[in-house]
Amino acid sequence: MPKTKVLLIYTGGTIGMMQDAKTGALKPFNFKSLTNQIPELNKFDVELSSISFKHPIDSSDMHPDVWIELATIIESNYNKVDGFVILHGSDTMSFTASALSFMLQNLSKPVILTGSQLPIGVIRTDGKENLITAIEIASSKQNGKPIINEVCIYFEYKLYRGNRTIKYNSLHFDAFKSPNYPPLAEAGVEIKYNYNYLNKPSKNKLLVSKTLDNDIAVLKLFPGISKKITSAIINTHGIKALIIETFGSGNASTQPWFINELQSAIKKGIVVLNITQCLEGEVVQGKYATSTQLKEIGVISGGDMTFEAAITKLMFLFGKQLNLKEIKINLQKNMCGEMK
Ligand code: ASP
Repeated sequence: MPKTKVLLIYTGGTIGMMQDAKTGALKPFNFKSLTNQIPELNKFDVELSSISFKHPIDSSDMHPDVWIELATIIESNYNKVDGFVILHGSDTMSFTASALSFMLQNLSKPVILTGSQLPIGVIRTDGKENLITAIEIASSKQNGKPIINEVCIYFEYKLYRGNRTIKYNSLHFDAFKSPNYPPLAEAGVEIKYNYNYLNKPSKNKLLVSKTLDNDIAVLKLFPGISKKITSAIINTHGIKALIIETFGSGNASTQPWFINELQSAIKKGIVVLNITQCLEGEVVQGKYATSTQLKEIGVISGGDMTFEAAITKLMFLFGKQLNLKEIKINLQKNMCGEMK
């Protein structure tokens, strides 16, 4: 039996920072010293290979161009390995996982993002467990086929659907939540998969999208938001889509100036997408009178999508140069498990 092959892609983030023996300063590691930090990796019955970004980044510097680079690496190695583990800073990991879930259509192999809150060289690091179990999951098979066929985040004993996650804690090891979808697996003595919630493998060939459009604006509502600021954001030159982050189940101010601003944007061909500020639950336009008008003027409901999924889905759909009608249809359609 040939060994299962996993490709590790190192983008940066806290996990890869090591304390310099002399100065004590945190610096990025190279992959050669990874096995020194985690000798357990040699015990895996898995053939591990690695690709490291030439200049590893803190994930706050993440950019759609880097997502394209990651998707290209996955595409060119897709037939060579059984699964992928991406080491990534936790700050924007949910954005990257969401973006990749749209860009890598028809997956039938695991793409697992992981990282840590403490560097791998620090004695109390959470990075070792995260990395070791992420590799274990990326190499796990059932009847010779990968168990996971989607883009996921593994963090602190839980495997999540990537495009359902948010980073919600900057201090705890348990840094992620998947508010509207159950974990795909939990790692204890055994890794227990939640089989009913996993994406099925695609029978079609992997399709990689490498064009993303970031001409998107975001308007987070708050009581007292001014007409001046609202209007400046909505009328930003060149925007193609506007996410309005609304209250509760998709509610917003009913003041005529606010509705008029949105309506004229929609008439100009700007897609307006309604995402709730609540961490759990969903947008239901028309449930309250304060969202009925939004529905009437053509605001699209983002349902139970996270903000991270919504913004990357817009980048993906506009990158495909679809017409407005197709974009609006796809926005409301579950494309890869990102919404109900
Ligand atoms: N600032 C770091 C990053 O996102 C935090 C982390 O890795 O957890 O790259």
